[in-house]
Amino acid sequence: LHVEEALGPGARIPVEGNAAHYLLSVMRVKEGDAVLLFNGRDGEWAARATAIRKRDLVLECAEQTRPLETAPDFWLCAAPIKKGRIDLVAEKACELGVARFRPVLTARAVVDKLNLDRLRAHMVEAAEQCGRTALPALDGMEKLPALLAHWPEGRHLFFADETGGAPIREAFAAHPGPAALLIGPEGGFTVQEREAIRAHRAAVAISLGPRILRAETAAIAATACWMALNGD
Ligand code: SAM
Repeated sequence: LHVEEALGPGARIPVEGNAAHYLLSVMRVKEGDAVLLFNGRDGEWAARATAIRKRDLVLECAEQTRPLETAPDFWLCAAPIKKGRIDLVAEKACELGVARFRPVLTARAVVDKLNLDRLRAHMVEAAEQCGRTALPALDGMEKLPALLAHWPEGRHLFFADETGGAPIREAFAAHPGPAALLIGPEGGFTVQEREAIRAHRAAVAISLGPRILRAETAAIAATACWMALNGD
């Protein structure tokens, strides 16, 4: 269960609302039962359920069960796409182990606002489900030119380009180290955007094969490939 509070020996975490409903009515947690907690900072802790009432309870931390993970150093920079699809990308990126999700606004994006709270909720749920002890960082949306202008030194920017690029496996193998993946929106990148990205010092254009994939498929498939080659 994800909580906001600090975790440590004897910490008492009050739980109410949806989380309490989930524990008490869905999981049927009883007094003394163990619940695993994480907050994204202190690793995973086993806690005992106590002070159970109809709609709330307290979880008392006992011992750390796992240290904080070190996520593989891989970011996903994806243009916003329609609601359900971007939620899916956030969920799967979290499951696959990305360290950071940076939404990037491009010229052809059909969506220009993102509900970051909703995206974060999807990532929290995914982290709970897959047993991550850290949450990916989630950035506010940034325009593509700003992203490129302030790109950090030493991080490869794998540009998924359906018009052509190096085969993904070779490109990933030839460029080890901190990396990010850039995926366009439903309508793809404009010619000018593509030129600007390709001209960037950190960019490595990659191809995901001869078929034009949906943006969410491209994001998930390429992330899975990178993780298969470089992740834990
Ligand atoms: N119209 C479809 C949709 O609604 O999702 C296809 C969108 S495709 C143009 C979106 C993005 O996925 C592209 O900008 C690119 O980043 C990536 N992509 C799709 N197929 C790809 C491929 N074969 N190789 C590399 N990148 C690809």
